[in-house]
Amino acid sequence: MDKKVRTRFAPSPTGRMHVGNLRTALYAYLITRHAGGDFILRIEDTDQEREMEGAVDIINRTLEATGLTYDEGPDKDGGVGPYVQSERVKSGVYMKYAKELVEKGEAYYCFCTPERLLSLRTKVEGTDKEITVYDKHCLSLSKEEVEEKLANGIPYVIRQNNPTEGTTTFHDDIYGDISVDNAELDDMILIKSDGFPTYNFANVVDDHLMGITHVVRGNEYLSSSPKYNRLYEAFGWEVPEYIHCPLITDEEHKKLSKRSGHSSFEDLIEQGFLPETVVNFVALLGWSPEDDQEIMSLDELVEKFDYHRMNKSPAVFDYGKLRWMNGEYIKKMDFDDFYAKALPYIKEVIHKELDLQKIARMVQTRIEVFPDIKDHIDFFEKLPEYDPEMYVHKKMKTTKESSLEELKKILPVLEGVGDWSNDSLYETFKTFAEKEGIKNGQILWPLRTAVSGKQMTPGGATELMEILGHDESMIRIKQGIELLRNSL
Ligand code: GLU
Repeated sequence: MDKKVRTRFAPSPTGRMHVGNLRTALYAYLITRHAGGDFILRIEDTDQEREMEGAVDIINRTLEATGLTYDEGPDKDGGVGPYVQSERVKSGVYMKYAKELVEKGEAYYCFCTPERLLSLRTKVEGTDKEITVYDKHCLSLSKEEVEEKLANGIPYVIRQNNPTEGTTTFHDDIYGDISVDNAELDDMILIKSDGFPTYNFANVVDDHLMGITHVVRGNEYLSSSPKYNRLYEAFGWEVPEYIHCPLITDEEHKKLSKRSGHSSFEDLIEQGFLPETVVNFVALLGWSPEDDQEIMSLDELVEKFDYHRMNKSPAVFDYGKLRWMNGEYIKKMDFDDFYAKALPYIKEVIHKELDLQKIARMVQTRIEVFPDIKDHIDFFEKLPEYDPEMYVHKKMKTTKESSLEELKKILPVLEGVGDWSNDSLYETFKTFAEKEGIKNGQILWPLRTAVSGKQMTPGGATELMEILGHDESMIRIKQGIELLRNSL
């Protein structure tokens, strides 16, 4: 029988939840849920300099908002904890395994001073970038020399001892077999001078000890994978399946970065996107189901997700598509939920006592993100200044002259309307048009323009008038008449 699938999300608490991290979490979650396995949360906080206060809260909040529930994690023990690396450091586990590698000749102590390391820096050909390629200087120290330095308290790191000849090959489920010359593998640091493990080392040790079967991560780690492979082999541990996700780019095909303004989950929520939309959209950054369905709930994603269908080529973050998708989710929302979310945006622009529920119902099918609401409805609060040319509409067969005439004629009719509801107003205008021998549009268009001052409105003339009420509607129609008069 196959081993139980176990995947993990292993974020470093360094800031907001980047879309790429969320996708990693999501794919790991989908793989495991699809296979009936376990999903584990591990906090990788060994780089204390990069750590940001509150970042763990962001991780927790994001997982909760997106519905990516984990089976094991810092607050859910599954027997292989602790699930926070800084706590694991205290148990001495990384040091123990690093020493095991030293014993095997697969790692060594390095006492080189920062000055010496600086002198090893070289320019990467054709770029401005500088790297340190360690020259294995300390590998030649005898056991006694090492012990003496340790006894004297000289600061040290532990480095991986990689061969300088031959090649290392590893397999990635998305990118296939990849071979690299061992000469290119630097002797990366496993344990830092502060006694903490590097990400590179802790990640391998923990993935093994936590029984991770599928390692899902961003492809920035692809180039380090041969070194991870060598660690697994040195320990004699089974290498997990590697699943590296493709790069995410902006629409200019540059790596999606903070500068885009929408690179993190929080950015998107602040911009009015729903968590469900973000999950759905992020799932499609590098994968698509066989049937090309686009709108999928988390449950549907679990059912359909097959990592073998993931792409190698970069995924483009198409903001327009995200907006469209959000509009689809908003349309499907239960009205009460929609109203609760829409209300703060409505109240930002409407201070008058109007039927806000009716206004909300009008916009639910018309917006893509919540902040769009404001532009759709601001005219309810105050009639904007508008161009009288807006009364001219070819298809409706209206001109400024015809609009002026019909608006003047409708005033006394409106004075007599007792029931100011959408239906009753509509009947009134229909009867009026019949009597006048004009098309409905020839009166409805001028009315809609007069009461809104806008080219596009979330409803027709009668719906708007019902919400505005009798008095305000009459004032606006009279203002429209004035405006038309002055323009002729
Ligand atoms: N701590 C790493 C990060 O946040 C995790 C990479 C991995 O999933 O292995 O980038």
